[in-house]
Amino acid sequence: MIPVQGYDGRRVAVLGLGRSGLAAAHALRAGGAEPLLWDDSAPAREKAEGEGFTLHDLRKQGAFEDVAALIISPGIPHLYPTPNKVIAAAYEAGVPVDNDIGLFFRSFATEEWTGFDTTPRVIAVTGSNGKSTTSALIHHILSEAGRPTQLAGNIGRGVLDIEPAHDGEVIVLELSSYQTEIARALTPDIAVFTNLSPDHLDRHAGMGGYFAAKRRLFSEGGPDRAVIGVDEVEGRYIANQLAEGPGDDRVIAVSVERKLTGPGWQVFARKGFLSEYRKGRQTGAIDLRGIAGLPGAHNHQNACSAYAACRALGLGPKVIEAAFHSFKGLPHRSQQVAERDGVRFVNDSKATNVDSAVKALAAFENIRWICGGLEKEGGLSGLSEGFAQVRKAYVIGREAEAFARQLDGIEAVVCETMERAVAEAAQDAERGDTILLAPAAASFDQYDSFETRGEDFIRLVRALD
Ligand code: ADP
Repeated sequence: MIPVQGYDGRRVAVLGLGRSGLAAAHALRAGGAEPLLWDDSAPAREKAEGEGFTLHDLRKQGAFEDVAALIISPGIPHLYPTPNKVIAAAYEAGVPVDNDIGLFFRSFATEEWTGFDTTPRVIAVTGSNGKSTTSALIHHILSEAGRPTQLAGNIGRGVLDIEPAHDGEVIVLELSSYQTEIARALTPDIAVFTNLSPDHLDRHAGMGGYFAAKRRLFSEGGPDRAVIGVDEVEGRYIANQLAEGPGDDRVIAVSVERKLTGPGWQVFARKGFLSEYRKGRQTGAIDLRGIAGLPGAHNHQNACSAYAACRALGLGPKVIEAAFHSFKGLPHRSQQVAERDGVRFVNDSKATNVDSAVKALAAFENIRWICGGLEKEGGLSGLSEGFAQVRKAYVIGREAEAFARQLDGIEAVVCETMERAVAEAAQDAERGDTILLAPAAASFDQYDSFETRGEDFIRLVRALD
């Protein structure tokens, strides 16, 4: 655990007692603060009381008297569509609002570091898609290279749950827009921007707000080095804002759409080959085509981003290449779960938005596509870009019929349940086909998470035998 610095002897309110909220409460207490906890859910409050914390009804008049800060969980809206009432009251009372990420950055460095040979560093990864894969891949490369490293944030452990850094350790953090938007300190050494496509628009009042939330990672203090996906204009804008000129290698530009040129530092992948150029000279090359854990151009983008971040730390291309080959991929992201009679079954339940589903569709051929669920704001426009590889769609979800009607130009059958979709797709499939779960929608109409949706798919696939 990272004890929180700067609140010794002071009262700090914590709203939302899920994983990150409780971790924040423990870390605040360890740093000498008096945490005052609240959650609207009674079971969450009971759990906190069970862990010896004091509850404090933050909805009450005057609840913020003598409170130094309010720490909030990422799931609680603080601005749009409307701020949570407790957070609005903190604004009114002039109490600073922060989150676990802000607490982490203000508490990470300790006096102990003065005795270290190598100062610990933080790599923070944000973007619309590929954050988890890129973060896990960086962590994997560092582990394989024998570097001390910990992975936290939106993936795995809460940021305050990790061990205080060891000599030379690299902390890899995956940060969502909800997390970057509110954190009062954001000072990674290396920051990665994977890509940008519409997501979570209601929480950010549209695309501009969503981008602004992510961009804070590059503007609040600013990283020493930034790895930026430049295939969208937003990435080019961040890169432009950070660099003093075309040769400034504070920015490592990443593309999977074109060969990047110029005097700066670039990493790009084309036709399955990763290339690194620095000051106009090629400094690295990797054939990504046979790497089982990183299929498709979207994963080649993740590979480029992870490669660039590790190069920024001084790792050699060969070490990184070897680690690519031993990377297993993450569950629910282009995860091959079975192969029967020449038919592959791939679980990409994490494809909860249009962009990630299009990318998953582009990574395979002859696809029997299981899709549908709770549609995201912004609808399904752009989805047809992935249709060329689709043989037939098997639509699940409570609104399966409406979803299927929007799949213009491909054959679609309304299945509603995963059980029916898997059975029908398996029945129709021929040798060389891939049965791909890539829903392009959230899972909450039928499941409590994308993980349970993916596990249901896996269970049904296994039951086919
Ligand atoms: P995040 O943590 O940003 O949600 P993940 O690595 O969990 O990213 O991947 C989320 C979804 O997006 C998965 O369906 C995955 O196959 C797809 N995906 C992964 N990397 C990329 C990428 N670079 N571009 C687009 N889609 C991607």
